[in-house]
Amino acid sequence: MEHSGHDIEQLLSRWEKLARANDWETIVLAEAGGYPVCVFQNRKSGCRENGGLYVSSGVHGDECAPPWGLLRWAESNPPLFDEVPLVVIPCFNPVGFVENTRSDGDRVDLNRHFQNRGLPLMSAWQDFLKGREFSMALNLHEDYDATGIYLYEIASEGSPGGSFLSSCQDLIPRETAPSVDGVEFRDGLLSHDVDESRLREMVEENLDGGMPEAVYLYLNHALNSFTFETPSEMDLRRRIETHQRFLEVAAAHLLEGKNRSLDESR
Ligand SMILES: [Zn+2]
Repeated sequence: MEHSGHDIEQLLSRWEKLARANDWETIVLAEAGGYPVCVFQNRKSGCRENGGLYVSSGVHGDECAPPWGLLRWAESNPPLFDEVPLVVIPCFNPVGFVENTRSDGDRVDLNRHFQNRGLPLMSAWQDFLKGREFSMALNLHEDYDATGIYLYEIASEGSPGGSFLSSCQDLIPRETAPSVDGVEFRDGLLSHDVDESRLREMVEENLDGGMPEAVYLYLNHALNSFTFETPSEMDLRRRIETHQRFLEVAAAHLLEGKNRSLDESR
């Protein structure tokens, strides 16, 4: 990259260019430290069609590969773009992204506040999502303790997470630790119980009720929710490439499922 991994102007100007080229709508959810928190949506999403894909990155500002992987994926003009409703939030926490901090400018870890309507950003986000139902939600993160890739899966339709990881592991191998942040993983995959009350219990017990984006989306707006993590101490280019690969594989899975259900309804 010819620019810093934390260059918000570069990131946002390339998204604006993409939005113009694809005739997407841009919505500013809030301002943070002089930067907009932008949502981009394609026409199908603007028409409130259900299904499709939600992707966000940059919730934690010190995890800089995901926003660039997401941008590169979008710039590659994936086949999914015009096929399904698409919502993208490329950088949820621009202040943290610029300052290379996990939390936002008010020292809030946003990923424990997606339920919190007291934060203007979160109430705007919740209002934007009202009445929407996605087939798949993807949240992109990194972990400085990890040595490999791993995935949290909350899936009501099968368990494709293992195959997503398999498709990425030639770039960065899977995490081998049997637990991450105190929870058990198998070959880098943690499949959460999809039962709503158990998920709510888990958030109460482990996170003091602070709702991560992925859990909020699953409980309210997404049939399947995945949080993908790369080890942030590894080579930046490789991490960016791995996020791009993950998006390609997950999007292909979504598109396959859509085409299959179309065939079945014929
Ligand atoms: Zn994170």
